[in-house]
Amino acid sequence: MAKTITVIGAGIVGVCCALHLRREGFNVRLVEKGEPGMKASFGNSGSFGTASCVPFAMPGVLKKVPKMLFDPESPLKLRWSHVPSALPWFLRFIASARRERVEKIAAERNSLLVHTHAGYAPLIEGADASRWVDHNGLMMVFESEAAFAGASYALDLRRRNGVHMDILDGNEARQMEPALSKSVIKAVSLPDVSRTIDPFRLTDSLVRDFVRRGGEVVQADVKGFEIGTAGPTKILTDRGALDVEQVVIAAGVWSRSLAKQLGTSVPLEAERGYHVMFADQDFALKRALVSADRNISIAHMHAGVRATGVAEFAAPDAPPDMRIADRVMRHAKALVPGLKGEPASRWMGPRPSHPDSKPVIGRSPRHSNVFFAFGHDHLGLTMAGITGKLVAELATGKPTTVDLAPFRPDRF
Ligand SMILES: Cc1cc2nc3c(=O)[nH]c(=O)nc-3n(C[C@H](O)[C@H](O)[C@H](O)COP(=O)(O)OP(=O)(O)OC[C@H]3O[C@@H](n4cnc5c(N)ncnc54)[C@H](O)[C@@H]3O)c2cc1C
Repeated sequence: MAKTITVIGAGIVGVCCALHLRREGFNVRLVEKGEPGMKASFGNSGSFGTASCVPFAMPGVLKKVPKMLFDPESPLKLRWSHVPSALPWFLRFIASARRERVEKIAAERNSLLVHTHAGYAPLIEGADASRWVDHNGLMMVFESEAAFAGASYALDLRRRNGVHMDILDGNEARQMEPALSKSVIKAVSLPDVSRTIDPFRLTDSLVRDFVRRGGEVVQADVKGFEIGTAGPTKILTDRGALDVEQVVIAAGVWSRSLAKQLGTSVPLEAERGYHVMFADQDFALKRALVSADRNISIAHMHAGVRATGVAEFAAPDAPPDMRIADRVMRHAKALVPGLKGEPASRWMGPRPSHPDSKPVIGRSPRHSNVFFAFGHDHLGLTMAGITGKLVAELATGKPTTVDLAPFRPDRF
């Protein structure tokens, strides 16, 4: 008899877990309180960030953070009402910024990143979703020598982790991307980075394939668990209780409270990012652009041009502050001067972030029938495929493709 497994959360991470598990022959139920793919996974920049081994906490961050918090133009925001609950997270974050920790974390992140395509390829092919993926690369751009010099350690870390990069001057960058501002003086081309041109449609294609393969999507808000001697036996939802054999917690930033109810505390915070979408323009960007000076990304998506940025620490469900989205808009227009018009839409999504820039992937330390798969911060789209593959390997008892010790839930 096939085993039944219940995945909680249908963002890109939960969907990839559910689909990998279904493909392994499990009876899979995917429980989602809203619509699949509509939270953090909806409006991200779309990059499969295989070059992004560099963690968020870097040496020198302690000096920079206080200034950034008081600068209205800064890409880092913290709601003052949120300070007491975020403080322990920030202390751990600062501890993660020591150089030897950074070196280790980069290598550990990279151990997942090198499997990005292996994690996704069977899912994308099986769902006939390759039209949502392009392989034109990514370009980091610099408008000041100071920003370029400031990136030297991060670039070196990438290089030492096997990332292929080409350093360009401003003119070479504009030959590749004519829409770029003349203020760009240097760029780094990352030709091996691919991306999705619509993160929501990619997730949606995978959900449809999951259903086509016999998976079940249940709309319900999981409020708690009934726990027996061998772990949870029921999930308690706003639509009643459901029996469970095995459970995967993949509920993005909301995993923190679910994990806590299952006896595991994790320092998971919402690092809320914003986007603005513009209608199609009379220029095309071939690849995704990331500005080091402005801390924004900008890319041509399936339906218009999307600029993203900002890390705002606040409660995940607190109302968005769309003035922050307008900051992203102003910087996007300065970087790509041909960008015209008002945004067609503005959006906020909560990146689920741990202070050591690593997800939690593994079996619950308390209950052998529970798996955790959350906390992928800026890289949830990128790491979802391999995370799903690893969860399926754990559930089937196969050796895992990646050593999961660095991602243990009880490491904090
Ligand atoms: C501006 C921005 C740009 C980004 N750019 C990139 C990028 O270029 N590349 C990249 O790799 N990543 C990027 N990210 C990060 C990426 O979007 C996230 O890491 C990823 O979407 C997290 O996916 P998730 O499935 O863990 O969470 P989510 O997408 O938030 O999904 C969690 C799901 O769980 C559901 N849920 C929660 N609680 C319950 C419950 N109790 N019961 C039932 N369901 C529940 C929620 O409704 C939600 O649908 C970006 C993020 C932002 C905000």
